[in-house]
Amino acid sequence: MIKIDLATLFPAMCETVLSESIIGRARKAGYLDIRCFHIRDYTVDRHRNVDDTPYGPGKGMLMQADPMYRTWEAACEARGGHRPHVIYMSPQGRTLTQQRARELSLMEHLYIMCGHYEGVDQRVLDEIVDEEISIGDYVLTGGELGALVLIDCVARLCPGVLADESCYEQESHWDGLLEYPQYTKPAVWHGVAVPEIITNGNHAAIARWRREQSLKTTYEKRPELLRAAPLTEKDKWYLRTIGWTDDPDDGSRTG
Ligand code: SAM
Repeated sequence: MIKIDLATLFPAMCETVLSESIIGRARKAGYLDIRCFHIRDYTVDRHRNVDDTPYGPGKGMLMQADPMYRTWEAACEARGGHRPHVIYMSPQGRTLTQQRARELSLMEHLYIMCGHYEGVDQRVLDEIVDEEISIGDYVLTGGELGALVLIDCVARLCPGVLADESCYEQESHWDGLLEYPQYTKPAVWHGVAVPEIITNGNHAAIARWRREQSLKTTYEKRPELLRAAPLTEKDKWYLRTIGWTDDPDDGSRTG
């Protein structure tokens, strides 16, 4: 079972999210071992300060190295001295992808650090962080929302978390493409019927239709993904019938 430790100034906020729905149920059922560490619990001064003004000109506050370091030490100790893979949530990190989430889901123990204010003293980052991860090219007030996104997408790939683990292998970004459109009951809604092909029980035809719809959706919404997607000759033939060309510039089309 994967162990995930989260260092935050807002453990209650994180616990609320991590106790709900699929992740909450998986924790209760023993498929995920997630613990939140309150950075303020690892301060040594009377006021439980975690931040101070930065050196040099500039506004705002910076999280101090020592409480961050002590929190990490306590988490390692709580796990029997095991050294986790340490991630700092940061707008300067590599952007999170499904591929990276897959790799992280195979790790034994992750430790995720959330910054706040203007960020974190560089010295503790240099000393303990293995990897910085961003959830996009924008700046949040703190690392918690990013960490929760990261935990959610890593956790659902761990054994036992989803009822049917093969679900995510057909989802967007698993094999470089976006998912095909899906439909549920009723068969006709607002006068629109579900595509006949997915109701006729011909599994080979449904599989081919889904593949083509997946290619079409990717071409229409995120054509640049097709550059790196593993495409068969049959896929390319289909894509050409809907206007795609092998021209590398075609991937820059935005929709
Ligand atoms: N001064 C920092 C900079 O310019 O790189 C930004 C600090 S931000 C206001 C405060 C904290 O939010 C960061 O320490 C980080 O943990 C988190 N954060 C902000 N944007 C993020 C993003 N895009 N992805 C992940 N974490 C982010």
